[in-house]
Amino acid sequence: MYTDSHCHITDELLYGRIDEIMENILENKIDNVMVICCKEIDYLRAIELKKQFPFIRIAFGWYPQDALEITKKHFELLESVISSLDCVGEIGLDYYWDDSFKDKQKEIFIQQIQLANQYQKPISIHMRSATKDTLDILREYAQTKIIFHCFSGSKETMMECLKMDSMISFAGPITYKNARQAIECIEACPIDRILTETDSPYLTPVPFRGKQNEPKNVQFVAKKICDIKQVDLLVLCSQIEKNYHSLFQ
Ligand SMILES: [Zn+2]
Repeated sequence: MYTDSHCHITDELLYGRIDEIMENILENKIDNVMVICCKEIDYLRAIELKKQFPFIRIAFGWYPQDALEITKKHFELLESVISSLDCVGEIGLDYYWDDSFKDKQKEIFIQQIQLANQYQKPISIHMRSATKDTLDILREYAQTKIIFHCFSGSKETMMECLKMDSMISFAGPITYKNARQAIECIEACPIDRILTETDSPYLTPVPFRGKQNEPKNVQFVAKKICDIKQVDLLVLCSQIEKNYHSLFQ
């Protein structure tokens, strides 16, 4: 029923509880889960997990804030496993914490887009305090489907994103009190362009805000979208599943 298009359940922070997390996924009808891997160990764990839970999809990519550490070896590794991936990501630009290596971030981002183009894989985009540069690069280079992960921009930015072959993915912050801008975006976003996600272990939605996040909580994101758009929960969830599967065709 539910779709979590972006979670880090093989990250150190969640992997210690993986049995319980998977049980909660099954019990809460989270039928679609994309595991985002930012390190080789995350990816190796995801491959193991997928053997037991075939509904899992795997994304792997080098994270923008790690750009300074990324070398040719990292690209060789990514390319060597790319046929096992459903998606390349999360990749993008993040000037929020440290904008002292923008050029390096751009270089790593563009190279990964080109890899995704070559192997026809969708890309999951991390864009923080870097809207203009991210969108300029995507317009110039991206040739596959785009997921704007944890979208938190303005309605105007979203409209620019929707001009591309993309999905807008919403996460826990839409349930927070100060979510006026996100609500405007959801109101304006066509239902066939929406995805849901948790970004676990971060960004826990209300009513569990403050606790560690996990995929089962994606239901609160979906329910919030239903409230805003005044659509039936089953209708929304089945449309989101359709949107999600269309990325991989
Ligand atoms: Zn993430």
